[in-house]
Amino acid sequence: MRMGRVGRVGRAGQVGQVGQAGQAGQAGQAGHVGRVGQAGRAGRASQAGQASRAGRAGRVGQVGRVGQEARGGQAWGDRAWSSRVRVGLSCALLLLLAGPASAATKAIRAALVVDASGRAIPNAVIVVDKDRIVSVGTSPPPAGAEVIDLGRFTVVPGFIDAHTHMTYYWDRAPGTRPLGQPRRPGGVTTVLAAENARLTLETGVTTVRDLGASNEVDYAMRDLINMGKMIGPRMLVAGQGLSAPRGGGAPNPQSYREQAEARIAAGSDWVKVYGSRGSYQSVDTTQTLTFDEMKAAVDAAHAKNHPVAIHSYGPSGVKDAVRAGADSVEHGIDLDDETIAEMVKRGTVWVPTIDHNRYYVEAKDEFGFAPETISPLQAYIEKNLESTRRAFKAGVKIAMGSDAVYTMFGQNTRELAWFVKAGMTPAQALASATTIPAAMLGRERDLGAIAPGYFADLVAVDGDPRADVDVLISKVRWVMKAGDVVVDRRPGRSGGTGRSDAAGGGVDDGAPATIQRVVEAFLLHLGDHEWDKVAADLAPKAIVIIARDRGGEWTNSYQTGDEWLAALRRNPNPTTFREPISNVAVTIDSDRLAYLRADFQVVRDGQPQSKGVDQFTLVREGGAWKIAAVAYTSMPVR
Ligand SMILES: [Zn+2]
Repeated sequence: MRMGRVGRVGRAGQVGQVGQAGQAGQAGQAGHVGRVGQAGRAGRASQAGQASRAGRAGRVGQVGRVGQEARGGQAWGDRAWSSRVRVGLSCALLLLLAGPASAATKAIRAALVVDASGRAIPNAVIVVDKDRIVSVGTSPPPAGAEVIDLGRFTVVPGFIDAHTHMTYYWDRAPGTRPLGQPRRPGGVTTVLAAENARLTLETGVTTVRDLGASNEVDYAMRDLINMGKMIGPRMLVAGQGLSAPRGGGAPNPQSYREQAEARIAAGSDWVKVYGSRGSYQSVDTTQTLTFDEMKAAVDAAHAKNHPVAIHSYGPSGVKDAVRAGADSVEHGIDLDDETIAEMVKRGTVWVPTIDHNRYYVEAKDEFGFAPETISPLQAYIEKNLESTRRAFKAGVKIAMGSDAVYTMFGQNTRELAWFVKAGMTPAQALASATTIPAAMLGRERDLGAIAPGYFADLVAVDGDPRADVDVLISKVRWVMKAGDVVVDRRPGRSGGTGRSDAAGGGVDDGAPATIQRVVEAFLLHLGDHEWDKVAADLAPKAIVIIARDRGGEWTNSYQTGDEWLAALRRNPNPTTFREPISNVAVTIDSDRLAYLRADFQVVRDGQPQSKGVDQFTLVREGGAWKIAAVAYTSMPVR
C-alpha cells in the first residue's frame, strides 16, 4: 500500500513557482529574472523596449520548467531532496540572468561542428554576438563571453523545413478528428498553433516555409515570432494557396495573376499554387491548373520579386509547374527525364515530401481514413521515393519539406531518412535541410550555415551526423535560434521549449516537463490524501504493482487503481506525507504514450521512511495525460 508513502516537500512547490512565474511565492523573483532574460532577446529581435510586456515572465518559467528531462542523477544520485528539477531551474535562471546582463556575446563550445559544406571542426568554439555568428574556429572564447559548453555534442546549422502548415491544429478533443473541426476565429487558431511552432523548434527546425493557411493566421504567427511574442521558428509564409474553383470552369489565367498579386499585397512572402488534386488520404494526381494559369501566377509574383511554390501530385502538373517557372515544386511522382533535366537546368527546387504520406498511414485512425486508402498511400510513397532517387542522381536540388499538419509537428525532419534511402549521404541530407532551402528562400547569406554573419541558428545533436542521419532526426539535444537558447534537453538540464507561455494557454503536450508535472501532482495529491484528485489523475482501469522489501523478503502485489484507491480511502488515520523524486527520466514514446522513472523517498514528519524506484506509464486521453500504470519498488531506509 502506498499509504506510508510521502510526497515530496518543497519540490512541487519549486517547480510550480518558477514554472508559473507570475504567481505567488518566488514568482515575483522568477518574473523579474524572466524580464531581464527576455529583454536581451527582444532587443535582438529589434523590439527593444517591449521586452517587459506580458508573457515574458511566463516564458522564462517555461524555459526553467522545461528543464527536466533530467536523466541524470549520476552526480546527484543521493540527493533526493535537492531534486534535479531545482538544480535545472537554477541553471536555467542563472543562464538567463547572466546572458543579457554581462554578455551579448556567447561562446559555444562543442566537440564537433559540422555543416553541409562538409567542413568539420573538432573542439570548436562558435562566438555569437546578439543574433549573429561572429566566428567559428578553435580559438578560446573571448574574455567576458558567456560560455555554453555543449561537451561531446556536435553542432550543426538550424534546419529549414521547406513545407509546413503550421496553422493546422487539432486539440485531440474526444469525438473530433483533425479534419472537420468546428471553425475557429483566426485569433484562437493563432494561439493554439503556437504548440505546433514549439514542437517544430524541438526538432531543430529554426526556419520554416509555411505553404498554405486560412484567415492570415500564418501572417500573425510569422509576425508574433519575429516580435519575440511567440516561441517558434522563423516563418516565411504564403497565406491562402491559389487553387482551381470547385467544379472547374474555363481556364482563366488572369484570375491567377490577380490572386497572386492579392496575396503579395496582403503580406505573403511566397505564393502557393495548387496545381493538382491530392492531399491527406487522397493521392489523386489530376492536374487542376493549366500551364497558362500556372505561368500567369508565376509571372505576376516574379514581377513583384516574390517566389512561387506549386503543388502537384502527378507528373503532368510537375512538368507544367517547372516550365511555368515555379521556384519550387511540392510533392510529385513519376517525373520523366525531360522534367528532371529541366529542373536541373532551371535550378528548380523539388520538395518531394515523401514522409507526409508515411504520417498519414500511421495516423489513419486519428484521421478516420478508410482502410482502402492505405495501400494507395503506400504506393505513392514508393513512387515518390523512386522519383527522388532519380532526380537526386540527376542533380536536382532537393529540399526537406515535411508537409506537417496537425499531429505531425515534432516529426518535421523525418524526411531526411527517406533522402538517405534515395541515395544521399547524411551530409547531403543535411544540405537538403540547410543550404539548399536557404538558397531557395534567398537567404543563402544568413541562413543554413555556421559562418560569420549568419544567424546564430544552431542545433546540438548527440552523435556524428555524418555517420548516421538519425542523429539529425532523433538526437537533437539543444537548439539556439538567433542567439537565444530555445530548447535545452542536455542531461540534467532543461527540456523542450515548454508550453502555455505568452499565450497563457495551458496547452498540454508531450514534453518531458509536462509528464513530470503530472506525476508530481499525483504524488502531492497522494501525500495530502486528496483521493478524488488521485482518482482523477489515474486513467480508467489503471493498475498498481508493488514490490516491497520486508526485511529481506519481497512481497509482491498488484491491484486495480480502483481497489488501491478504495483501500486508501478506508484508512481511518491517514497522515500527510511527502515523496520527493529524483533522478527522473522521462521517455516520450509518442504523443499518446510516455514513461517516467524516478528514485523516490517517502518522508513523514521530516523522517525518511522508505525509498525505492517509481515507474509510471502515462497515456494521453481526451487531451490530458493520465497515469495508466504505477509500478514501484519499496525498501526501508537503512
Ligand atoms: Zn502542403
